[in-house]
Amino acid sequence: MGYLKGFMDFSRKDQDVRDPIERIKNWEEYVVRFDDDELKRQSSRCMDCGTPFCHTGAEWDGANVGCPVNNFIPEWNELVSEENWQEALKRLEETNNFPEFTGRVCPAPCEGSCTLAINDDPVTIKSIENEIIERGFDNGWVEAKVPTRRTDKRVAIVGSGPAGLAAADQLNEMGHHVTVYERDDRPGGLLMYGIPNMKLEKDTVDRRIKVMKESGIEFVCNTEVGVDVTRDELNRDYDVVIMCTGAQDPRDVPLENRESSGIHFAMDYLKASTKALETDPKNTPITAEGKNVIVIGGGDTGADCVATALRQNAKRVVQFGKHPASPEERTSDNPWPEFPMTFKLDYGYKEGLESQGEDPRKYEVLTQRFEQGEDGNVAALHTLNVEKVYEDGKLVTKEIPGTEQVWDADLVLIAIGFLGPEQEILEHFNLQTDERGRIWTLDGSKDYCTNEQGIYAAGDARRGQSLVVWAIREGREVAEQVHEYLTEESKMNIV
Ligand SMILES: Cc1cc2nc3c(=O)[nH]c(=O)nc-3n(C[C@H](O)[C@H](O)[C@H](O)COP(=O)(O)OP(=O)(O)OC[C@H]3O[C@@H](n4cnc5c(N)ncnc54)[C@H](O)[C@@H]3O)c2cc1C
Ligand code: SF4
Repeated sequence: MGYLKGFMDFSRKDQDVRDPIERIKNWEEYVVRFDDDELKRQSSRCMDCGTPFCHTGAEWDGANVGCPVNNFIPEWNELVSEENWQEALKRLEETNNFPEFTGRVCPAPCEGSCTLAINDDPVTIKSIENEIIERGFDNGWVEAKVPTRRTDKRVAIVGSGPAGLAAADQLNEMGHHVTVYERDDRPGGLLMYGIPNMKLEKDTVDRRIKVMKESGIEFVCNTEVGVDVTRDELNRDYDVVIMCTGAQDPRDVPLENRESSGIHFAMDYLKASTKALETDPKNTPITAEGKNVIVIGGGDTGADCVATALRQNAKRVVQFGKHPASPEERTSDNPWPEFPMTFKLDYGYKEGLESQGEDPRKYEVLTQRFEQGEDGNVAALHTLNVEKVYEDGKLVTKEIPGTEQVWDADLVLIAIGFLGPEQEILEHFNLQTDERGRIWTLDGSKDYCTNEQGIYAAGDARRGQSLVVWAIREGREVAEQVHEYLTEESKMNIV
């Protein structure tokens, strides 16, 4: 390493963030970029361990450990500490097609597996990754990858989320003709219309799509496969179809008065809010302005709803989760190098805490019914507290009698996860699904081939709602298998 004692001399420093009270007045990214000196210090904290776990991306006793795309983390940390940015970028691009997305939104399982994290704070791997790619763009080092030779094979990819984009990038580089179909008006999947602007600005997504178009990938937007284009048409025009349609079928809360107006799925709300940014943020059909907002569901999608509602000047935002708060420290059943399941004050919660004077999260709360006002809009939520207890050796959630509460509500956002992929398109393609409604593939973890010849699947549609980094990994792996299928099966013509 450039400086061997970095881990002893320097403490971890996270990227600065903009002041929570100021940043909720706009929709810009809340994280600020590192400066040169800090980057040198932070990257030199990497110990270049003999056996690094940060980049393994392996399963360890049932838990996933390290970076799912196997980024060469110690290698690029060393290059960054030596300020050899261009070489660091080359190493990063070998494993990750889109470091500007993971560098912003990845929960960084790599950091939980960093050896330093055994008794100190881990290296700021994610921020360093982001800086490498941003410097690549700043210096014009990120260039279109136009293949020198084209095959006569044509691949259609359905869905332009990170899985579809990674598969397209890889297959195009291998020389195949790639067309990506997207039903939305802009490519990117949940990168575009899911993850909010303050975590990932949409110019960043557009910037990558531009490079991909220059590389020769064709994008066909506003086109729903199965409706605007049929399976027969794709069969006629392409050698392979890859389904990267995501897992966006939302889980509902089928309780009394659910039909009231003012109750929406989180994704409808987030998508409308992002779309409105193209013209006027106030120009959204579902706004939190001046309202009591309740987010049902304690996960990350709910956190993004909290941050969005605060930017729309909600009167008050609370978020219900049915689990208890996470512990401050790792528990004995969540050891290093697993991802630490510890308490975190995510950006939206910090904003809520500072602007409302309270953390929006309410733990161990179960919604029992919606109350409808005379105008047909939701007026309140009735809840009960719950607790986790062991019964016959099993951990179960039990309601606590006498803990009923009524919460005023004008807008309710349902963010309790997703049932899986939407089924219509799978039926159209005659694709088998597994017990959780995900696209069935030959071998659950290794093979991306569906029950229909020439049709592959990757990303959330295959593995269920997951992470951007996993979608990229699946996109890369399905591309390898499709390439093998195309080259084996064909005596390929290179033109
Ligand atoms: C609100 C929210 C916030 C998230 N935040 C994070 C985060 O911070 N970090 C993180 O790592 N992960 C996050 N995730 C998860 C992450 O976004 C997903 O795991 C990832 O985007 C999955 O990628 P994908 O390509 O499989 O599918 P998606 O991104 O869901 O893309 C699927 C695409 O397929 C298109 N499509 C579907 N059917 C058709 C059809 N018939 N014809 C044409 N197009 C079709 C859809 O319109 C969509 O664009 C978040 C998820 C949500 C919902
Ligand atoms: S992609 Fe995620 S897990 Fe991999 S190095 Fe980047 S932040 Fe870490």
